[in-house]
Amino acid sequence: MFCQNLKHSRFCLQISISMASSGETARESIDARSDNQKQQQKKKNRAGAEDLQIEGYPIGGLSIAGHETCVIMPSLNLAFDIGKCPQRAISQQFLFISHGHMDHIGGLPMYVATRGLYRMAPPTIIVPKVIKESVEKLFEAHMAMDHSELEHTLVGLDVGEEFCVRKDLKVRAFKTYHVIPSQGYIVYSVKQKLKQEYSGRPGAELKSLRLLGVEITNTYTTPEIAFTGDTMSDFITDVDNADALRAKILIMEVIENALSALPPPLSGRVFALTNGF
Ligand SMILES: [Zn+2]
Repeated sequence: MFCQNLKHSRFCLQISISMASSGETARESIDARSDNQKQQQKKKNRAGAEDLQIEGYPIGGLSIAGHETCVIMPSLNLAFDIGKCPQRAISQQFLFISHGHMDHIGGLPMYVATRGLYRMAPPTIIVPKVIKESVEKLFEAHMAMDHSELEHTLVGLDVGEEFCVRKDLKVRAFKTYHVIPSQGYIVYSVKQKLKQEYSGRPGAELKSLRLLGVEITNTYTTPEIAFTGDTMSDFITDVDNADALRAKILIMEVIENALSALPPPLSGRVFALTNGF
């Protein structure tokens, strides 16, 4: 069980996983409810009411092994993996794909096509560099079939490389351990703070210094969220992945009944994302 070793992350988000032997899945559990309950669920999901709120971040999504994994961070305008392209993922501008298994990437053309249909800005899709060429071919095939543009920006990112989502937010890929090439992502907040020696100086002076190219601020980055995608627990002992374990929120898949086996230090810090969209 992964979480026992995670001493640094403040919160661990367990996304529901259904192993062949682990009994009832989250999806089955939802479908077992009455039609009325399902309707109410749909309404709530549209409003985002079912999002978990952790460390100030709303988080939605689901993960059922072999079927669909998609986790969205609506306040950051991004999603991790696309699963079968659930409705709420479409409104996210940035998409980070962990690996090429169908349950993580299958909905990709639909995601791009639906954003085009709604006349939303073309999305930016970040994939492991090693699969970028295959993803390009995938889009070429779809564009040839339906004679559409499928406008998007595709970025190949290697482990250790960073992508700037916005001035105060960047994402770094980290190594995960799976049966095919895969990587996780760490979201960092980026803050600029005035260097002490410039503290108290008038604004106009600081502006002139900036214009002269003087570096008057220090940059501070904080690992906020880490998403592993599919991985064996080896990612925990990889020294290059220290920030994944230091992140305020770690999103990972674990076997469904593992929550009950958590040691006391982790109780109240682990949340299960089981409601889907
Ligand atoms: Zn996989």
